[in-house]
Amino acid sequence: MPEHGKGTPERWRRLESFLWHDFDGGSGDWTRWASRTLPDHATNAAEAGFNDAMRLHAALRSLQAGNGGTAADTEGPQATLNRLVVEHDIRPRLDSHGVPRLVPASTTDPVAPLLILALDAMQADAWRRFKLCREPSCRASFFDSSKATAKTWCAMRTCGSRNKMRRYRAGP
Ligand SMILES: [Zn+2]
Repeated sequence: MPEHGKGTPERWRRLESFLWHDFDGGSGDWTRWASRTLPDHATNAAEAGFNDAMRLHAALRSLQAGNGGTAADTEGPQATLNRLVVEHDIRPRLDSHGVPRLVPASTTDPVAPLLILALDAMQADAWRRFKLCREPSCRASFFDSSKATAKTWCAMRTCGSRNKMRRYRAGP
């Protein structure tokens, strides 16, 4: 899939895919994505989660705009994420090894695992690697796996194919 970079750790690949997609086909796009990427979550749950998934998507992209060097200018996205944590009832639980992990109240909620992944990435200091492509016609989300975390454009090949797909969708 074009959304995945070569060096993205397995742990972050679902989040990488979620942020790469723009879901501009609406709830149908989201439901298809969720049933492919989060197969343990019921499709009807995905349908119901569309609005919250898009709130999460917009808040994370807004934070990502700060990962390329320009600071995010408001507290807005953080407030949205805090609200989603409460609304989706995400809490810390100790696992059998005594390690605290974030868990959702509902195992069929498709938004909660994505939100938890984003929070885990922030906690693990991997979030700053989730960037938006600096090419104005692209702005795709990508994971910067480079040692120096200095990439500003998504892979050349991905950049081009995304633009092509956008043009194809826009149609004549
Ligand atoms: Zn790009």
